[in-house]
Amino acid sequence: MNLYQKTKSKLYINITNRLTNIFQPINVIPKDAQRKNQEIISKSHRLMLELGIIRQANPGSFHFLPLGVRALEKLLHLIDEEMLKIGAQKVILPTLTHSKLWKSTGRLQDFGSELFTVKDRHNQTYILSPTHEEAVSDLIASVSQMSYKEFPLKLYQTTNKYRDEIKPRFGLLRGRQFLMKDLYSFDVDVENARHSYEEVCDSYNNIFSRIGVPFYKAIGSVGAMGGSLSHEYHYKADIGEDQLISCSKCGFYANTDFGGSDKCSHCNSDNIDISTAIEVGHTFLLGDKYSKALMANYFNEKRRSVPLQMGSYGLGVSRILAAAIEVLSQEQEMRWPLLLAPYTVIIIPPKEGSKEEGVIHHLTEKVYALLETLPFLQNNILVDDRIQMTIGRRMIDARRVGYPFTIVIGSKCMEEKPIFELVDLQKNLTLNLYEEQLLLYL
Ligand code: ATP
Ligand code: MG
Ligand code: MG
Ligand code: MG
Repeated sequence: MNLYQKTKSKLYINITNRLTNIFQPINVIPKDAQRKNQEIISKSHRLMLELGIIRQANPGSFHFLPLGVRALEKLLHLIDEEMLKIGAQKVILPTLTHSKLWKSTGRLQDFGSELFTVKDRHNQTYILSPTHEEAVSDLIASVSQMSYKEFPLKLYQTTNKYRDEIKPRFGLLRGRQFLMKDLYSFDVDVENARHSYEEVCDSYNNIFSRIGVPFYKAIGSVGAMGGSLSHEYHYKADIGEDQLISCSKCGFYANTDFGGSDKCSHCNSDNIDISTAIEVGHTFLLGDKYSKALMANYFNEKRRSVPLQMGSYGLGVSRILAAAIEVLSQEQEMRWPLLLAPYTVIIIPPKEGSKEEGVIHHLTEKVYALLETLPFLQNNILVDDRIQMTIGRRMIDARRVGYPFTIVIGSKCMEEKPIFELVDLQKNLTLNLYEEQLLLYL
């Protein structure tokens, strides 16, 4: 890997997305450090550090570098699209929540030492929010006279959450600061709340289907969150910290937080299996635990003030990214879900001084411009302009970082009708294509 070799070439200056423009400090993690830290370094963590996607700032907190931000923003965009479809509205709640709110719901105790707290100059204690049920309930409570006509209401945000985890590890998988997309639903009664719950769960199914990594929806435990019903979304992986029990007879999944059993709690069959998994999302039908404690009420038709029925729905955005990489990657080669790769296509132009360079270097700009016309590839194509390096070396790097498609402007482009070599990483195929076939393939 030689991502440091970044002498800018005089060619391709009209192309914005050039590899030499990217801040991608690679990070070699010595083998013995990996061995010593085996417990805390997972494959996705190591690859993301080595390939300049993230960099550690403190235990359990990370800098997102430009390629990581691109992937993250694609995920946020995908989530926003699905949220729009169910009429959820985006907000940003403050990181600081007054501890008195947490006292009223009893969670100051329940969350215990996982809470990060800060004191202001007036000796007031604030929580660096690990989740926002208190904050959002207080927001609704502060709006007086909300009428039943204003519900259902769904508010969501994607913000940093803070938890002083006992064992921050595996990079983004268990951070002490991490990105969560959290949604809160408010309804006038249990039946409507149940409807909102189903609607949001369907939307989360869509989100996970579009990401494309096989996911498993399991009955979850309500834990300190409270409520009557909860589901978790999981990716199966060896390093997962949850155990799922699954029934091959009825397809039922549950987190063993519910207690181990040798029978399916749904159909009583003993065809059950246990697998380790990473929790990537969690939904709760909360009831009125928070609305009652914090007086998040509405006025019903008879002008009586009634506590709202709530739901809470979290997606571990930064964890999803790392978990997807954990599931899809090989030891030395990173793989991304197609829709989340920082760039979808990387173009490798000829080596500097080669006979190809003299004759066909202009094809790079041509292919780049052509592909840019496809809406889903706009601003999604990168040119590896480290032309001092051989095409072969750059192809190895492209594989390692895991760009889904590599297009080589090489010797076959010297034919009267240029032939482009296209590597499709997901299908593990190399194809020789004419320009028009290239467009059709992508
Ligand atoms: P875990 O069981 O892994 O500790 P949790 O059940 O405490 O997670 P929730 O309170 O349900 O987490 O939060 C919603 C989502 O936030 C989780 O499903 C997960 O995807 C993500 N998440 C929770 N804790 C972390 C963390 N420390 N780092 C990264 N993501 C996290
Ligand atoms: Mg936890
Ligand atoms: Mg959990
Ligand atoms: Mg959970």
